[in-house]
Amino acid sequence: MLEGGCLCGGVRFRVTGKLGPAVYCHCKQCQRASGSAFAANAPARTRYFELTSGDDLVSEYESSPGKYRAFCRRCGSPVYSRRDADPEIRRIRLGTLDSDPQRRPLAHFWVASKAPWHSINDSLPQYPEDFVPEKSR
Ligand SMILES: [Zn+2]
Ligand SMILES: [Zn+2]
Repeated sequence: MLEGGCLCGGVRFRVTGKLGPAVYCHCKQCQRASGSAFAANAPARTRYFELTSGDDLVSEYESSPGKYRAFCRRCGSPVYSRRDADPEIRRIRLGTLDSDPQRRPLAHFWVASKAPWHSINDSLPQYPEDFVPEKSR
């Protein structure tokens, strides 16, 4: 079981099943939402994802039609994202977890919009946009 939470500690969650494939996302939305070069994201099954405290602090922002980014209203940390089109999945940021998720990011997505001041220095595959690897859930 994995546990995680926001910066202020008000929002806590747990993931009772395995995470899906993790990726580094270089899209402009992840850059803005994180204030950094990219986000490290992994999917979890909605039924394995549970908010254990702070539901009242979680707000959702619809960042594109049908896609919602949930964050802590007090400290601004991203908590999860979800899509109307894919209600079985919550996407979480690896940096919000308390311990090693065991998963390692497999690829770089949205490299076409990568921050110009950031260099990718590993040998993972890079995709210009979104690429969905073989579903290994
Ligand atoms: Zn918080
Ligand atoms: Zn992104």
